Amino acid sequence: MRPILTTVSLNALRHNLSVVHKFAPHSKIMAVVKANGYGHGLINVAHGLSAADGFAVLGINEAMDLRDAGFQQTILLLEGVFCAQELNVASNLGLNVVIHSQPQLEMLESAVLNKPMHVHLKMNSGMNRLGFQPEAFNRAYERLLACENVADITLMTHFATADDETGIEQPYNLFKTTTQGLNLPVSLANSATILRHPKAHADWVRPGIMLYGASPVGDTAAATYGLMPAMQFTSEIIGVQEVKAGETVGYGNRFTATRSTRIGIVACGYADGYPRHAGLVSGQSSGAPIAVAGQLTNTLGRVSMDMLFCDLTDIPNANIGSPVELWGKQVPVDAVAAASDTVGYELLCAVAPRVPMKVV
Ligand code: PLP
Repeated sequence: MRPILTTVSLNALRHNLSVVHKFAPHSKIMAVVKANGYGHGLINVAHGLSAADGFAVLGINEAMDLRDAGFQQTILLLEGVFCAQELNVASNLGLNVVIHSQPQLEMLESAVLNKPMHVHLKMNSGMNRLGFQPEAFNRAYERLLACENVADITLMTHFATADDETGIEQPYNLFKTTTQGLNLPVSLANSATILRHPKAHADWVRPGIMLYGASPVGDTAAATYGLMPAMQFTSEIIGVQEVKAGETVGYGNRFTATRSTRIGIVACGYADGYPRHAGLVSGQSSGAPIAVAGQLTNTLGRVSMDMLFCDLTDIPNANIGSPVELWGKQVPVDAVAAASDTVGYELLCAVAPRVPMKVV
């Protein structure tokens, strides 16, 4: 068996849920478990987060999987539905659907449903992705109010800049002004908003990345917020090479050794979901951190499809069979992401199906 593995910790998920509760003690928690639980396995994650008040997913299939597995919580479809047939299924499963556009509103108005729907009406507060413009929001609300297919309405928006210095002041005020006088439940906060903008916690919070123990904020480590990594991505050294100063490593000779270097070959490549640009390339980047036999070192050269290189020069006891942590407890996924010009979200979601997953 190839030694590569992800280990998902239900305990870490439970702990991170308690961190959300600590930051937003008065809000109900809608755990965002889309994209296969941010790569951790939808049903695994739902078990770890079973104390959440609700789950947010993307598609109706994910919602069906959760209901089939026995989860009775509120389930929100973040993009809503795409056709009347889906609306019927959503209504029968008691789902909550986002209504973010005129066609969705009209679909709901003209549907023949067994029971009325729970609806999240979404306003565009400046991300310009999904949602009614503020000028059209109240009209959409009035139509939902008059629609017999609607059981109840929650108001929502999603902030584009909760994680950076721009903050949420402008979109938050726009949402407040637009929805003034509507006495309805409100859902606004992703992880960055939960951690950085308490005034926008509202009735429901929608944490995603923080539940998995990664940071939504580039300059603040997840551990600073007391979060625990829910995924450990591990493998082993499967080869060792000694190279002299001036010799090169990997495809395209992208790394040139400046001293005698002991190179470890790790059974993990970009086809496993490890970022291709993580390795130290001479004259360009710094390598992503990696832990071998419990010691930190860094990755070198271009990551290949099935393997990557790391520097074992200062870990003389490391050899074929030594354990490697790609990310997890010693190596924050955010640090690998930073060295690869991406975010922890992308790396967690991109672990390939060929990597076996263990749940502990
Ligand atoms: N709410 C919405 C509408 C989202 O699309 C997402 C994730 O993309 C989240 C909440 C969770 O965001 P985060 O993972 O940053 O907490």
